[in-house]
Amino acid sequence: MANQMHDQLVKDFMAQVIAKNQGEVEFHQAVEEVVESIIPFIEENPKYKAAKILERCVEPERVILFRIPWVDDKGEVQVNKGYRIEMNSAIGPYKGGLRFHPTVTLGMLKFLAFEQVFKNSLTTLPMGGGKGGSDFDPKGKSDNEVMHFCQSFMSELFRHIGPNTDVPAGDIGVGGREIGFLFGQYKRLRNEFTGVLTGKGREWGGSLIRPEATGYGQVYFAEEMLKTRGDSLKGKICLVSGSGNVAQYATEKATEMGAKVVTMSDSAGFIYDPDGIDAEKLAYVMHLKNVKRGRIKEYADKYGVEYFEGKRPWGIKCDVALPSATQNEIDGDDARTLINNGCFVVSEGANMPSTPEAIAIYMENRILYGLGKAANAGGVATSGLEMSQNSLRLSWTREEVDGRLHQIMKDIHETCKKYGTEEDGYIDYVKGANIGGFVKVADAMLAQGVV
Ligand code: NDP
Repeated sequence: MANQMHDQLVKDFMAQVIAKNQGEVEFHQAVEEVVESIIPFIEENPKYKAAKILERCVEPERVILFRIPWVDDKGEVQVNKGYRIEMNSAIGPYKGGLRFHPTVTLGMLKFLAFEQVFKNSLTTLPMGGGKGGSDFDPKGKSDNEVMHFCQSFMSELFRHIGPNTDVPAGDIGVGGREIGFLFGQYKRLRNEFTGVLTGKGREWGGSLIRPEATGYGQVYFAEEMLKTRGDSLKGKICLVSGSGNVAQYATEKATEMGAKVVTMSDSAGFIYDPDGIDAEKLAYVMHLKNVKRGRIKEYADKYGVEYFEGKRPWGIKCDVALPSATQNEIDGDDARTLINNGCFVVSEGANMPSTPEAIAIYMENRILYGLGKAANAGGVATSGLEMSQNSLRLSWTREEVDGRLHQIMKDIHETCKKYGTEEDGYIDYVKGANIGGFVKVADAMLAQGVV
C-alpha cells in the first residue's frame, strides 16, 4: 500500500520536473533515481515536505549561459556554448567539474550538477554543488587552440566564480592542461593568485593525489563493499571502461590491490588483455592518452592483444566492473551479460554509467552495486582537500592526502550502510547514498530559511 502511494508521488513529482525541464532527459533520469529513494524518506519526515526542499533542490540556484568566441589555427572564428550551473550552496561554495565534449547540453550539465550536490554532501566536506562546461571538442585541436578556447571561456566565467563562491575542477575533456590555461587567465583578469580551481599543477597550488583520487577512491569503495562479504579485490578479474583520468588510476589501484584489470576502452572500442594491464603497460596507456593523445587501439597493436572496434567491454567474463568512461554506458543487456558471466561487484567511477534498467537488474540479483555518487566521490573530496591546503597555504604529503581520501571513502561507505541496509542485511547503496547525501543539505536549507 505504502509502496503504491510512493510510486504515485514519484510519478506526480516527475511529471512536474519533466514539464518544467522539457527535453532534458539525463536530468530527468538523475532526478528520478534520487526521488525514488527520497520521497519515502520525506513522507516519514514531513518537515522537509512542508519546506518544499525537494522542489527547491531540482531548481538550480543560478544558471549562467554564455558565448565563447575564439580563433583557430587557420585564422577562422569559432563559436561555442559555455555553461555554469550553480545548483546548491546550502553547505558550501558551489563545487563541481567542467566538461568539454561535443555532446554537452544544458540538460546533461544539470544532471551532473544535481548529482554533485548529494555527492559533495556525502564527502563530509563543506562543498555545495555545481557543474559547467562547453560543447567544445578538444580532440584533434592543437595546444594553441585549446589555450585560446580556455582563455575565452574564462574571460566570461571569471566574473561568476571565486574561492568562496564557486570552485570548478576538471571532468571529461578537462585535465591538467586545460586547468592550467583556465587558471592562468583567471589570475590575469583578477590579478589574484587564489584557489579558484582544483586539479591544479603541483607547483602552483595543486594537491598531491588529486589526479589519482577518483580512480583510487572508486577502488577503495569496491574494497569496502567486498569486505561486507568477507572478501577482497585480491585475485579478482576487473573490467575497466575508458582510458582517461579515472580509468587510468582505477587500473593502477586495482592492480596494486592484487586484482587483474583486463580491459580498457575509448569511444572507438576496447582492448582485452587477458594477462592483465600491469604497471608497465599502464605507463604506456598514460603516455598514449595524456601526451600523444592517441587511440586505445594502439595498445592492441603494441602488445598483440585483441581490439573490439565500436564495442564496450561488458561481454568479457569478470568478477568486478569498474565503469569509468561516461553516462549510460551499461544498459540492461550489458548488466544481464555481466551477471551471467559471474560479475558481482559494480563500482562506478563515471557519473551515472548504468541505465535505470541496469540498476534494477543489479538490485534483483543482490550484487554489490556502488553508484557513482558514492563510489566516485573521492575526486571531489580530494578537491575539497586541495581547497583546504590552498586556504592554509600548506601542502600535505602524498601519504597524508591518500590517508584522508581512504578514510573519506570508508566514511561514505558507512553512511550508505547506515541509511541503506535492508531487513535481510542487503545494502541498497542507491538508497543509502541518496538519503545520506540529502539529509545534510536539507537540514542546512531548513536552517537557512526560504532562500
Ligand atoms: P577523461 O576525458 O579523462 O576520459 C574519458 C574517457 O571516457 C576517455 O577514454 C573517453 O574516450 C571515454 N569516453 C568519453 N565519452 C565517451 C562516450 N560517449 N562513449 C565511450 N567512451 C567515452 O574523463 P574522466 O576520466 O575525468 O571522466 C570519466 C568519467 O568519470 C565521467 O563520467 C566523469 O564525469 C566521471 N568523473 C570524473 C571525475 C574526475 O575527477 N575526473 C570525478 C568524478 C566523476 P575518448 O578519448 O575516445 O573520448
